[in-house]
Amino acid sequence: MNTSPSTTPVVRLSHVSKIYGSGDTQVSALNNVSVDFYSGEFTAIMGPSGSGKSTMMHILAGLDSLTSGTVFIENTDITALKDSQLTKLRRDRIGFVFQSFNLIPTLDAQANILLPLELAGQKVDEDWFKLIVSSLGLEQRLSHRPSELSGGQQQRVAVARALMSRPAVIVADEPTGNLDSHSSKEVLGLLRRAVNELDQSVIMVTHDVHAASYADRVLVVRDGAIVSDLRGASEDELNAALR
Ligand code: ADP
Ligand code: MG
Repeated sequence: MNTSPSTTPVVRLSHVSKIYGSGDTQVSALNNVSVDFYSGEFTAIMGPSGSGKSTMMHILAGLDSLTSGTVFIENTDITALKDSQLTKLRRDRIGFVFQSFNLIPTLDAQANILLPLELAGQKVDEDWFKLIVSSLGLEQRLSHRPSELSGGQQQRVAVARALMSRPAVIVADEPTGNLDSHSSKEVLGLLRRAVNELDQSVIMVTHDVHAASYADRVLVVRDGAIVSDLRGASEDELNAALR
């Protein structure tokens, strides 16, 4: 585990509010949230259903607009970008891992891992590809299609795909939500290693206290605000913070 966080925020939310709807049906999903996410750290976001976790995740990854405030990814204020610029930044600087894996069924594992770079017309760094594949234990699986892989293996392919562009940050929304406990451990261990060994930054939404215990830092969200910001918390301490 990292003991001292780096001081460089890879993502910065400053006075971010998000209101859905209008009039009587208005919902305030995020209420003046300011938080920095640091480079080289694994941060988990927890909180009850409806507390604003997904909204925060979508906003910090440039997938949703905000009502007020600013969001920086590295040195870029993404709230000032045009759609085309935002699309490019998302593609180049953010790696996504979803609960449902989102692999292309007709492509084998290798083609899935390389697809985003190919779509972007970018050269594949062979050494980085080999390092990721061996680090994630996928050497023997590269010619398998998703249907020939277990859920855990599919999510490993999705993590490899997210790592290929050396993104500034990997965002994962409930990445273990569809996995059994063995595969969950495997995928969480990989995200941990991506931070420790490949110097990546990870932000993960999870319901699961055990999953959050892999993180360096845990943010607890309630009613659209961050109510706890914990480091090195035990599962018991996390459970207490969630009550
Ligand atoms: P969580 O991921 O923690 O369960 P969300 O961020 O999905 O919470 O939702 C936060 C609040 O915003 C909830 O009250 C939810 O109903 C509301 N909300 C989320 N998305 C929308 C939407 N597209 N339209 C209207 N309300 C929404
Ligand atoms: Mg959610």
